Amino acid sequence: MTNLKNFADILETAENKGKKIYEICQLLESENTEKPVREIRERVKEIIAAMKAAINAGLQSDEKSAGGMCGDDCAKLVAMYKNGKSLFGGLHQKILKYSLATVEQNARMGKIAACPTAGSCGIVPSVIIAVSEELEVDEEREADALITAGLIGKIVSNKLALAGAVAGCQSECGVASAMAASAIVELYGGTNEQIINAAALTLKNIMGLVCDPVAGLVEIPCVKRNAFLSIYAVVGAELALAGIKSVIPVDEVVDAMKQVGEMMSPKLKESSEAGLATTPTGIKIAEELSEKWNNQ
Ligand code: SF4
Repeated sequence: MTNLKNFADILETAENKGKKIYEICQLLESENTEKPVREIRERVKEIIAAMKAAINAGLQSDEKSAGGMCGDDCAKLVAMYKNGKSLFGGLHQKILKYSLATVEQNARMGKIAACPTAGSCGIVPSVIIAVSEELEVDEEREADALITAGLIGKIVSNKLALAGAVAGCQSECGVASAMAASAIVELYGGTNEQIINAAALTLKNIMGLVCDPVAGLVEIPCVKRNAFLSIYAVVGAELALAGIKSVIPVDEVVDAMKQVGEMMSPKLKESSEAGLATTPTGIKIAEELSEKWNNQ
């Protein structure tokens, strides 16, 4: 099984063996690490516990981030929800809250689970924990979901480096959103094909997302982007669960993302030399921060 390099291989193997994708993933990890599946799942549960701790810490704080550009957005959402105001129902509210809570913790240099990266750390945890609470599933099902998400990220990373500096934000928040979409489908009992389609549908629609952090800090646009792409994952999952398929197979979608990443200007790959980073406001913030830090 160690030769499973792409989604087509994974899907075929899972179907032939009559197993879910997370089962194939944990068997692969067991083979690669020579550790029993039970031990691998225990580690996954530790990561889930760390995700929950980051959410809880983030929900209790409105402390500003290191760069001072974020830190109190989650608190604003919570306050609005307490006043009974929201466009969405409880699950959407939770996903948005948990996403901002986690990624603001990252911006405060708090402990988070990078999933797949620190800048995109709010997406997978928010949907897995919020949906798990909604469905009242146990930690074994949470682990199934996170392992499913992990496999999606791993297979994409076989072709595309998961780093904004290499392929833009499509490879960070975009991949996190696809991972989260697949995890939701697993939690709702979807088929392997639906899990893969959720990833494909989501990836297709974030293609070309650039990485242009203001002042070189993982704050603007990263923090709010996590909230947006968490909800995006819900859309990908909902479409896939309805039986809607990506006409372009997911492996071809990943190839296209790689191509787009290679064509993307280095100025749009974490260098802060274009996009939001070089707007008049972005430049002003960077200059003010530079002056502040030089005077410290
Ligand atoms: S914009 Fe860049 S730094 Fe921010 S989350 Fe996306 S890839 Fe990471």
